[in-house]
Amino acid sequence: MTTATAHEKSKSDAYESRENWPPYTYRDYPAIKPETYEAFLEFLNTENTSGRLMELQPWISVCDSKCAFCYFPTAPTNKVQIERYLELLKKELDMYAKTKYVKTSIFDEIVLGGGTPSVLTAEQMIDLIDFCKERFNTNKEYFIKVTGSSKTLALPKIDKLAAYGVYQMDMGAQTFDDKIRKMLCLPDSAADVEKAIRHARKLGLCVCVDLMYNLPGQTMESWIDTLKKAIELDVEIDAYSLHVDAGTLLEKMIKTGKSPPVGNAEFEKQMYLAAYNMLTEAGYKAVGHDRYSRVEWHMRENCLNGWPWGGILTTGAGCFMGYLQRFSYSNIENIDEYMKTVSAGKLPIQKLSKSTDDEMMRREMSRLYLRLPVSKKEFMEKFGKLPEDVFPDQLKNLKTKGLIEIDDKEVRITKQGEVWKGNIAWEFAQKTTS
Ligand code: SF4
Repeated sequence: MTTATAHEKSKSDAYESRENWPPYTYRDYPAIKPETYEAFLEFLNTENTSGRLMELQPWISVCDSKCAFCYFPTAPTNKVQIERYLELLKKELDMYAKTKYVKTSIFDEIVLGGGTPSVLTAEQMIDLIDFCKERFNTNKEYFIKVTGSSKTLALPKIDKLAAYGVYQMDMGAQTFDDKIRKMLCLPDSAADVEKAIRHARKLGLCVCVDLMYNLPGQTMESWIDTLKKAIELDVEIDAYSLHVDAGTLLEKMIKTGKSPPVGNAEFEKQMYLAAYNMLTEAGYKAVGHDRYSRVEWHMRENCLNGWPWGGILTTGAGCFMGYLQRFSYSNIENIDEYMKTVSAGKLPIQKLSKSTDDEMMRREMSRLYLRLPVSKKEFMEKFGKLPEDVFPDQLKNLKTKGLIEIDDKEVRITKQGEVWKGNIAWEFAQKTTS
């Protein structure tokens, strides 16, 4: 049996351990400053001339229970006045919808995220989506996605969503190993998750599941069984490595010995490679952050391919993935504070940053993390320089290690660079530009 300690670091490794998280997260955003807020409002009063399609994310930051690893700012369902929250969420959406920037933007995805939007009734979800469709410009071809757990997605609810025209159901399956599910405080069993997925697939819905590896006590066999099950269920897969975040129940459980520790860096890498190899052999393509896809459309999703100049307009308590060109933002996490702020007619932004040219150049390079090429022509048009003028040492070093390729047109990661794509992104975030 494979164990966390059974692997030795390979001599050919480019780094000691893999970095899995891009260096641009909401946690690094500065608290909102009056001048940045003013600049953001001014920006919202301009026309969107980017020509990029955008994603709209109304968040339902509510869950029935708390998963042990979860750091998301969610509130327990029984403590939230759902109807009032939905009213205020619509009010926030409306504030954006009335701005010039949003009026001149086109959306090709409406994503009910969170949290667990499926705690809502099908009627509430449909009403919210209808509201978005009325207030925002949708592209001729657009997609509706809904996040849910099998505990709150009863089969008749899935029927209604499918009949309405929902395209994709996102589920945080994490693992099909019931022993680990129990330890992680996941609210449902592997059989429940499987039943909901099979039902949704039968109705023609696309299903995308989150799967996690390097979980405490997870063996390689358990991970492979989970991957096999996901392939058999014919779902899209977001496979990501567990990060034990400060303040989570899991961190406490590991510290107090109630949970085994996670595997070491080499084991984590082996699990990544196992997924990469199994899934690509099964016809999946690795795309974006951690996605494995067999659906052609997903490989050209605009919110992904448009990074960092497209946009995700995110709304709702605790949402944190907002980016509109140079602006990145997250909302107030406490749901009561969020509701108070929106009811007072203010945008409920908690953290907001406006990137400088220097930061945008680094973001442009983080396209490599998303497995996207960095176009030299576009870089030159935006910044008046080439990537190699700005990042000569980083590019030379990565090229020498065989992790990237550079030609006249673009910079892109190599197959060898795949496993280190997080580390590659960090190279551009950590060092100063010339
Ligand atoms: S369902 Fe998702 S958002 Fe809710 S606690 Fe679990 S991981 Fe966090």
